[in-house]
Amino acid sequence: MNQTLPIYQVRISKRAKYARLVIHRNGVLEVVLPLGMNHDGAEHLVRSKKDWITKHQQDIKNQQAGSQAVDALPSRIHFPSLNQTITVKYIRHEKDSCQENEGELTVYSSNDALIPQILQHWLKHRAEMCLSSMLFAIAQEMDDIYQSVSIRLQKTRWGSCSNQRRINLNAKLLLLPEDLMRYVMIHELAHLQHMNHSKEFWQRVARFEPNYAEKRQKLRTWEKIDLTGCALLTILQPTLR
Ligand SMILES: [Zn+2]
Repeated sequence: MNQTLPIYQVRISKRAKYARLVIHRNGVLEVVLPLGMNHDGAEHLVRSKKDWITKHQQDIKNQQAGSQAVDALPSRIHFPSLNQTITVKYIRHEKDSCQENEGELTVYSSNDALIPQILQHWLKHRAEMCLSSMLFAIAQEMDDIYQSVSIRLQKTRWGSCSNQRRINLNAKLLLLPEDLMRYVMIHELAHLQHMNHSKEFWQRVARFEPNYAEKRQKLRTWEKIDLTGCALLTILQPTLR
């Protein structure tokens, strides 16, 4: 049997009682031998643990490749309307999930390709907790009632209002400045009275947002840019209906 062995370094330790293997973070394999032990012991140990060594060195290589891809992911996500910035860290894990704790989001993923999905799922959950109560407060201000609200991850709309008085809001509204988020909500709630964009509709919008023309303009610029500075949560040009 003449299998090639992994390359290793030998270190003699006065304190070591047994021979042991160390795989450093850069993947370098080291055999630690107690003082006085024959160097053949090192080769024997490496040979007997060859599969284990190969697997761990490969894991390190994969992690290094993964962490390069992760560099392109957002390290912070800002919610202007909540005056909150979430820091994000990414951990390799066999189970895909995420956990938010005191302003820090930890994303666990088995594969970098799944990270956008995990982030979007989290954003939707976050939006469900916040946007509904904001909409409710503005509806009270406008003295109007809607049938229901649902939060979606939409690619093409910031919001919509149906004939059945059901309002849909885009989860990504959470990433907009507060005045623009409020304008979108006022716009959709104004459709409860006018299911069109008539003069009367805009008059109703103006009662609650006199600068609506400026907000519309600003919203258009937001439609064109990537909201988080990364390609993952990009909105593909949502529009207001
Ligand atoms: Zn509209």
